[in-house]
Amino acid sequence: MDFKFTDEQELLRKMIQKFAEKEIAPRYEEIEKEGYQQDLTNKMADVGIVGIAVPEAYGGAGYDFVTQTMVIAELAKVNPGVAFTLEAHWKAIDQLVIYGSEEIKARWLPRANRELFTFGQTEPASGSDASTQQTTAVQTPDGWLLNGNKAFLTNGVKAASMYLILAITSPEKDTEHSRTVFILDNQNPGFENGRVEDFVGMRGCPVGDIYLSDALVPDIDRLGDIDQGMEIGHNAHHTARFLMGALAAGIQDAALKASINYIQERELFGGKMSHLDGIKFRISDIAMGLHATKLIIYQAAWLRDQEVDHKMETTTAKLFGSDQALKAANHAMQIFGAYGYSKEYPVEHLWRDAKALQYAEGAYEKLQLDIANSVLFESREEFML
Ligand SMILES: Cc1cc2nc3c(=O)[nH]c(=O)nc-3n(C[C@H](O)[C@H](O)[C@H](O)COP(=O)(O)OP(=O)(O)OC[C@H]3O[C@@H](n4cnc5c(N)ncnc54)[C@H](O)[C@@H]3O)c2cc1C
Repeated sequence: MDFKFTDEQELLRKMIQKFAEKEIAPRYEEIEKEGYQQDLTNKMADVGIVGIAVPEAYGGAGYDFVTQTMVIAELAKVNPGVAFTLEAHWKAIDQLVIYGSEEIKARWLPRANRELFTFGQTEPASGSDASTQQTTAVQTPDGWLLNGNKAFLTNGVKAASMYLILAITSPEKDTEHSRTVFILDNQNPGFENGRVEDFVGMRGCPVGDIYLSDALVPDIDRLGDIDQGMEIGHNAHHTARFLMGALAAGIQDAALKASINYIQERELFGGKMSHLDGIKFRISDIAMGLHATKLIIYQAAWLRDQEVDHKMETTTAKLFGSDQALKAANHAMQIFGAYGYSKEYPVEHLWRDAKALQYAEGAYEKLQLDIANSVLFESREEFML
């Protein structure tokens, strides 16, 4: 086992850190107030960050999943919301790489170096229970006509221009074998933006809904086979979840750093807070959680790079990471006392950002059940969809 980053990864990491400190950190208040900043995505595209997951053949950097995980964790230390936009983008790119025809790759992947993707599965009446989805796609001589309403799309509405949409193509079949993924441009006729959710956290990343009314998609923009959509959706989740774990690691790192800085300055009962045992217990709790999260996310990403089953590991990365991130943010807020409860200090947003990780890419209890079932029953394939 080799737990070291390569020289190339270390160089990239330093570049990301420098970029984040110079370009993202100073924008914190603006992002909190106004939300997503397109010019920041443009800057990330200019220096090649947006295209990190795009294969070199299509103009990107073609970095592996361990490296993608490292980059998301670095960006999340400075602004989890900004990092979240890339998590959603890169998981969609992975689906094009795996399931896309050569024609699809040539048409869409070069754009992914500058423009963002999103993946739309959730609907207003359908989250954890995919059987209640209603969006349909009907084949016509000109292509597929999509109708429906997708909700809570990360990057949706303001940031993404390219959409992967899961729609019912064979209503007579069961949920797992009746959906297909289509690639849409937001300029497609019949495509209409909804609103951006006023979410409490991850303010740097818009999450919103869209409406499709006879939106025409040519058959060449069907991703994978007809009725292969749920498989693609599950695969997207399994790529996304270790990247979500990387967001969680970044949040914990930020909580640890802010807490250490604070307790080394703040006086309490005649000395620095850093000398109080009760504070050390909190610091050790954050540090242990962060360490364990990092081990799990990089193991899951590495397994993905080896193209072996990583469902259990990636689901654990997201669930465990989100718990640790929430706990770390809570510790930091407590360490900061009343200042921790104030928006003027840099820790309360970590709690708001961390909470998002317990819904996106599969809600908490659903994934707990997936893990429990895969431990309880022998066939992992059967239970870890
Ligand atoms: C920040 C953010 C980004 C998102 N991005 C995307 C995106 O890009 N694309 C997309 O398609 N969707 C996205 N989503 C939606 C997300 O996938 C859904 O929120 C999730 O699937 C859960 O669906 P739901 O919110 O409708 O909750 P429901 O499915 O209605 O569940 C309600 C609650 O019940 C819990 N629950 C589920 N099953 C059980 C059970 N068996 N027993 C007990 N409790 C249970 C859930 O965990 C949840 O807390 C995003 C959501 C958020 C918050």
